[in-house]
Amino acid sequence: AFNAAVVQAQDALNAFIVTTPDVALAAAAKVDADRAAGKPLGKMAGVPIGMKDLFATQGVQTTAASKILEGFKPEYESTVSQKLWDAGAGMLGKLNLDQFAMGSSNETSAFGNVVSPWRRPNDTAPLAPGGSSGGSSAAVAARLAPAATGTDTGGSIRQPAAFTGISGIKPTYGRCSRWGVVAFASSLDQAGPMARDVTDCAIMLEAMAGFDPKDSTSLDLPVPDWSAALSSDLRGKKVGIPREYRLDGMDADVARVWDEGIAWLKDAGAEVIDISLPHTKYALPTYYIIAPAEASSNLARYDGVRYGLRDLPQGAGLQDMYAATRAAGFGDEVKRRILIGTYVLSAGFYDAYYTQAQKVRTLIARDFSQAFEQVDVILAPTAPTAAFALGENSDDPLAMYLNDVFSVPASLAGLPAMSVPAGLDRNGLPLGLQVIGKAFDEQGVLNAGLAIE
Ligand code: GLN
Repeated sequence: AFNAAVVQAQDALNAFIVTTPDVALAAAAKVDADRAAGKPLGKMAGVPIGMKDLFATQGVQTTAASKILEGFKPEYESTVSQKLWDAGAGMLGKLNLDQFAMGSSNETSAFGNVVSPWRRPNDTAPLAPGGSSGGSSAAVAARLAPAATGTDTGGSIRQPAAFTGISGIKPTYGRCSRWGVVAFASSLDQAGPMARDVTDCAIMLEAMAGFDPKDSTSLDLPVPDWSAALSSDLRGKKVGIPREYRLDGMDADVARVWDEGIAWLKDAGAEVIDISLPHTKYALPTYYIIAPAEASSNLARYDGVRYGLRDLPQGAGLQDMYAATRAAGFGDEVKRRILIGTYVLSAGFYDAYYTQAQKVRTLIARDFSQAFEQVDVILAPTAPTAAFALGENSDDPLAMYLNDVFSVPASLAGLPAMSVPAGLDRNGLPLGLQVIGKAFDEQGVLNAGLAIE
């Protein structure tokens, strides 16, 4: 069902962990039958999409790119994927990602890294597609799929979108149900669409969002018709430019593209205002305490009893089985997060790290609320650089974490944020700009994104 060019591209990029052409064809056949029967068609009718392999898909292997879940076929379907199938979409396959969505380059996958379809001119070094939704970004950028799902805990939709020249939106925390999405950091995890442009993102988000009683943090709000209300006319709107994001020694191309974005928003009628988000510099350390803390708790369930892998050494007891299974099943980055997380939650350090991080999280959220008394949206770069080469940061976790410096603040505050392609760096690689909006104002974010793209 996949043509030769697609198979060749998949071989080169490793974007999919499994492909499911039969599932996609069955969905298309159902749309055809519905159309022939005169039944109303859904918003995503006939659109084949890639599904990040963090969403549970009934009867189809769901791995979170970890050995510990290899071969796991859920009995249930995640709410978000079910909504997409109900809207007429079909599944091309499960997309590669950083293991348990922990990473910024897709190199922590147990199924091999994804390769970006982009290259620097006269340079064959394979580039990172970003992460953790690197299979999604590579598949959409290489035209293997018109759209894909992503999840974003600290930037995993926005940064890979920026690295590959596509669009992606993380909606307000709670817009998309987390039910059936493999949990990383539950107070931060949010699903969203990754697609070629803002309009496609708006349509796909309408299909994905909505209240779900099975997720206690799901927002009980109607889903607006964002695509119908899209407008790049920003007259009367105020755009904030946060001075703390203009880092010393900032990449010159990132700074230039940011200035160009400011000019485009002015051209679209917006008033541009300098704002301050004073606690920005604490966002990265705060995130790298809270996210691992929640992860260490969420990952306790992978014990060799309930899911996938079981390593039961000869004559071993239960504790040995837990230890052997987790030692064999989790990758290095996942183990590092579990160690950090258990450390910051341990009795002697809880107040010094976890409680403190929660307090700072409140201050970061308050910075945004104060800024949004003055402005409608905020414009900033998505990431500090264009895509880096595979291997460039993989031995240095801190360098990798620094890549998330612009994306984690909006995650900690639970705000909608979008990356749109905005220009190229000196090597011809895509750079993204990020629009951050008020809680529940995906429309404002999408409209500013439309004015930039
Ligand atoms: N890069 C960040 C991390 O490794 C964000 C990941 C994500 O959003 N899932 O935690």
